Amino acid sequence: MNTILEVKDLSVQFRTEEGSFHAIEHVSFSVQEQKTLAIVGESGSGKSVTSLAIMQLIAENGNITGGEIFIDGQDILKLSRKQVQHSILGKKISMIFQEPMTALNPVIRIGEQITESILEHQQVSKQEARKIALDTLKQVGIPSPEQRMKQYPHQLSGGMRQRVMIAMGLVTKPKIMIADEPTTALDVTIEAQILNLLEELKRTYKTSILFVTHDLNIVADIADDVLVMYCGEVIEKGPVVDIFEHPRHPYTKGLLATMPSLDQDEKVLPTIKGSVPNISKRPQGCHFHPRCEHATDQCRTTKPQTYQVGLQTVQCFLYAPKKESSNA
Ligand code: SF4
Repeated sequence: MNTILEVKDLSVQFRTEEGSFHAIEHVSFSVQEQKTLAIVGESGSGKSVTSLAIMQLIAENGNITGGEIFIDGQDILKLSRKQVQHSILGKKISMIFQEPMTALNPVIRIGEQITESILEHQQVSKQEARKIALDTLKQVGIPSPEQRMKQYPHQLSGGMRQRVMIAMGLVTKPKIMIADEPTTALDVTIEAQILNLLEELKRTYKTSILFVTHDLNIVADIADDVLVMYCGEVIEKGPVVDIFEHPRHPYTKGLLATMPSLDQDEKVLPTIKGSVPNISKRPQGCHFHPRCEHATDQCRTTKPQTYQVGLQTVQCFLYAPKKESSNA
């Protein structure tokens, strides 16, 4: 199976008045053709910085300090900004944002925004671009698309605006779409419709999806593989079934334990004790140690390596190979 996106050892640093700090460090993962990888973690874990770095959209006070990003086999960090904008962004990769109102231009009609996006990336006439825009709006389930083309973003409901965003992401038939919390602002019924739509489009267009979320219920429904982030690092990754059935890292176990379930008797959901530390003041050693019931002196001073456990990888000393006894 083809690898569409491969991120190797990616680190991003930000400069602030208080000094510089890494928002993500040595992040590595890959997404295969027609597969969905979900990146999960609490806010401040680095999941959105990772997706923005892939799209070359990190804020001005941030920069990529190391690593490689291969999209369809091409390391985009070796290309000029112009080359990336011309031949990668929008063409091979596109992004759906959490809040369409901030991504769509409020004073330009929907039809014009989609048509402009097509004309930017494809050698077609304005008339052809309009037809592609109309067809794509139909494909994402927008009723009366001719009429919607003439409307402004504020005239559509939240669900419709998110469908427009998906249509804009799809018009160039990218190899991979990044969806950053695309259903957070929607109610559960519309959320289910949008998730079904993404699943359908993945099959139709053979598109891969990188889905960024804090909601593990969504992950269980849509992901093939899962990557768990904490304090800017990947602390566990593996196939969705393995992660849900046999979570290894104490943080992943904690996250899954906090998921509401229908057959749960307790009225109060369990929580992970403590809170995510400020990313600029990460604890020494294993960053999770102040919240971990298994923490040892070694955890407090030394950063754990990543160990392979079946199909999962885990950054935790609990999975370090046992040293052989000298008497053996
Ligand atoms: Fe807990 Fe130590 Fe594993 Fe970190 S390395 S998760 S503190 S047991």
